[in-house]
Amino acid sequence: MLDSFGRNITYMRVSVTDLCNLRCRYCMPEDGVCKKTHAEMLTEDEIITAVQAAASLGITKLRITGGEPLVKKNIVSICRRAAQIPGIREICVTTNGTLLPELAKPLREAGVSRVNISLDTLDAQKYRYITRCGELSQAVDGIHAALGAGFEKIKLNAVLVGGFNDDEIPALAELTRRYPLDMRFIELMPMVDSGDFGPEAFIPCTVVLDKLPELQSVEPDGGVARLYSLPGAKGSIGLISPVSAHFCKECNRIRLTADGKLKPCLHSADEYSLKGLDYDGMVDMIRRSILCKPSWHGTLDAANRSRAGRDMNQIGG
Ligand code: SAM
Ligand code: SF4
Repeated sequence: MLDSFGRNITYMRVSVTDLCNLRCRYCMPEDGVCKKTHAEMLTEDEIITAVQAAASLGITKLRITGGEPLVKKNIVSICRRAAQIPGIREICVTTNGTLLPELAKPLREAGVSRVNISLDTLDAQKYRYITRCGELSQAVDGIHAALGAGFEKIKLNAVLVGGFNDDEIPALAELTRRYPLDMRFIELMPMVDSGDFGPEAFIPCTVVLDKLPELQSVEPDGGVARLYSLPGAKGSIGLISPVSAHFCKECNRIRLTADGKLKPCLHSADEYSLKGLDYDGMVDMIRRSILCKPSWHGTLDAANRSRAGRDMNQIGG
């Protein structure tokens, strides 16, 4: 359906949990999250009803996210049921990859067509630093498991953090020559709890172009990334710039949090609760939230933090 600014809303990101087995510094607090009660979270049936309601309003693409979606016990069942809903043409999952060795095949068989795997660094010590507890080898094993499971597309997402991983841009980009993987560089967004990062951390995606002068421009694929490729590469390189050059005019997405709040804009505090509503109630509420989607998210930088009112693990990215 069209929002008040003529944007066709076809894409819903569904966060199935705010829990995670990592603690990335830009995403969530070190001591985890204040666990909500079970009763406050959407049940599997409510998630499926919400997707049915969204599909009736023109949502065709879902991204299952979190927290870490693969720590959710019933993740395969949620994906399988969502994939069977009429109108849903594509289900993608965004994950830190560490649980893909066990779950890549079941997810593919459940109807997930694409996975995005977060990987900010190829250095084990830096990986442990940025995730506060993670093992790089587990994420790498997850990437190999995804490559072996037959997904239509696999993307790696690196959040660019000035002074942390800008020196690894060439090495991360090089992966697209060795493997059939797309690499996405995403600007660090100043979320509520990203106080670890000073102004020097917020670098524009265009540094990738400075570091890789051999990049050639590629036709856009309908997503928000500006696309390039290295000569002879198997996959593309994309720059996603929510901070330096926002793409609000083309934004076609809404977000559903694990506790049932619809967020028409990632960086706005406005939320519309679906918890406890039946199918018709959800259709009405989703319609209302789409009509109230703001035209843009306002200035974002080290001094102007997100007005989302939640950390990223409680939204889903
Ligand atoms: N746990 C999964 C993962 O890490 O891919 C899915 C959830 S995570 C919140 C989704 C995406 O948001 C990840 O690619 C992550 O790197 C990104 N993200 C989290 N905090 C961010 C921030 N402050 N700025 C930019 N991207 C962020
Ligand atoms: Fe967990 Fe993903 Fe957030 Fe890292 S970015 S803490 S893996 S939810």
